[in-house]
Amino acid sequence: MYICPKCKEKLILNEKTYKCINNHSYDKAKEGYINLLLKNSKNHGDNKDMVLARRHFLEHDYYKVMANELINCIKNVPHDTIIDLGCGEGYYTNLIEDTLHSIVYANDVSKEAIKIASKQNKNINYFIASTAELPLPSKSIDVSTCIFSYIDFKEIHRILKQNGYLFTVMPAKLHLFELKEHVYDTPYMNEEKIPTSELFELCETKNVHYEFTLPNNEAIQELFTMTPYYFKTSQKDKDKLNALSELTLHASFLINIYKAK
Ligand SMILES: [Zn+2]
Repeated sequence: MYICPKCKEKLILNEKTYKCINNHSYDKAKEGYINLLLKNSKNHGDNKDMVLARRHFLEHDYYKVMANELINCIKNVPHDTIIDLGCGEGYYTNLIEDTLHSIVYANDVSKEAIKIASKQNKNINYFIASTAELPLPSKSIDVSTCIFSYIDFKEIHRILKQNGYLFTVMPAKLHLFELKEHVYDTPYMNEEKIPTSELFELCETKNVHYEFTLPNNEAIQELFTMTPYYFKTSQKDKDKLNALSELTLHASFLINIYKAK
């Protein structure tokens, strides 16, 4: 049920090519995904190294407690069709599809991420596109998820059915605080500013909070590389992590549940 990113007409799949009435065509990749990102788009997202580091970290299921809580929340609302926005390498998308067996779509601007994701689960409809301009018809989706990803309320509202739901996940105050304590002289807590929009009613916010242990230095370095702090930290501060062989720290997330007005 994709629409053409150029002319917004319906795309029809014929063998391995999607085509619209105006003859714009898009080939299905051998991995199964479809590239619907227009060539002139600037941001191409995470590179392969970043994608692989994140996948390796997530595979250890340190964040599965949060994912399960999110899935339990989705179970309470109609969820025949779901889209995981900014899905990255598909760790959460895969858990969602595996548990709920809904029709699942997922997008990311990173081709490397989508390639890796679509190799893992052929039941998920992966496509390359920006969340700001989704190649999906209006009012076609029951549930959208934004897990640490960009929230475009207007575009999400367009694709959601009436009374559809949006679930967002963001880091809470104490998320990874112990990691920051090791790196910075004056570590700060995360700001808990929950985004809102007049297009959505914020129904509920849940805090998922637990401790987990990274058993070796490799895992510690991998986690730090995944964080937004990584690019803002000097090499001197980064080097402070080299001496750590184990680290117990807090995972703390906010799951925000919104209903489309
Ligand atoms: Zn077209």
